Amino acid sequence: MALRPYIVGNWKMNGTRAMLAEARSIDRGAARHPGVQVGIAPPFTLVHTMAEAAEAIGVGGQDCHAKASGAFTGDVAAAMLADAGAGFVIVGHSERRAMHGEADADVRAKAEAALAAGLGVIVCVGETEAQRDAGQAEAVVTGQVAGSLPQGDVAAAQLTVAYEPVWAIGTGRVPSVDDVSAMHRAIRAKLVELLGEGGADVRILYGGSVNAGNAAELLAAEDVGGALVGGASLTAESFLTIVAAAAIDGE
Ligand code: PEP
Repeated sequence: MALRPYIVGNWKMNGTRAMLAEARSIDRGAARHPGVQVGIAPPFTLVHTMAEAAEAIGVGGQDCHAKASGAFTGDVAAAMLADAGAGFVIVGHSERRAMHGEADADVRAKAEAALAAGLGVIVCVGETEAQRDAGQAEAVVTGQVAGSLPQGDVAAAQLTVAYEPVWAIGTGRVPSVDDVSAMHRAIRAKLVELLGEGGADVRILYGGSVNAGNAAELLAAEDVGGALVGGASLTAESFLTIVAAAAIDGE
């Protein structure tokens, strides 16, 4: 089964209300490509307003807490994101893993909280440059998949895995198409091992310095089901070029 391509913009800690005009342009442009699922994960402060205005795109969070409520100053629960209009959340981004000390078990707990709140969840995995140089990339990434995925019955449509080599994020460096394909094959095999047949229907996104110039080649790689895009998602011009590159038969 061909899975609907999924292109997601991660705005990270960028964007005030002035950026909502850009989101509206992305929304209008995405409507021209109904064959592509498009999402934007803005900072928490913009989720509600963006979600209210969005017609063609999904709006998501960049993180959530594993608990439903409580004394967790500064954190946001998955149900709060859903209440604000979010439809999905990214968990386990390498910046969260590195800067906030999140381990696989934390990511799994967040992913389970997201699903319980009715959100789709994008679970990020990826090796560091040192791990790749040491020949450990596949073992590290498939280990992260095994440790970070939510447990229990998971509908494939609600779960997405994003493969983001840490050394490719925000650096302008990308792995070769062969390396991307090899890693996506390894992730697919692990998903099928963990989830059974449903593992074949989980989309695996590539992320790391995707831009308007390299998107078509990366999206054509074996088992690449879309892209998680940081810097190039901040303008409608570059992000919509990536969306268009994902469109099958122009849709
Ligand atoms: C990201 O942070 O998820 C990402 C892929 O960033 P960039 O596209 O800027 O490398």
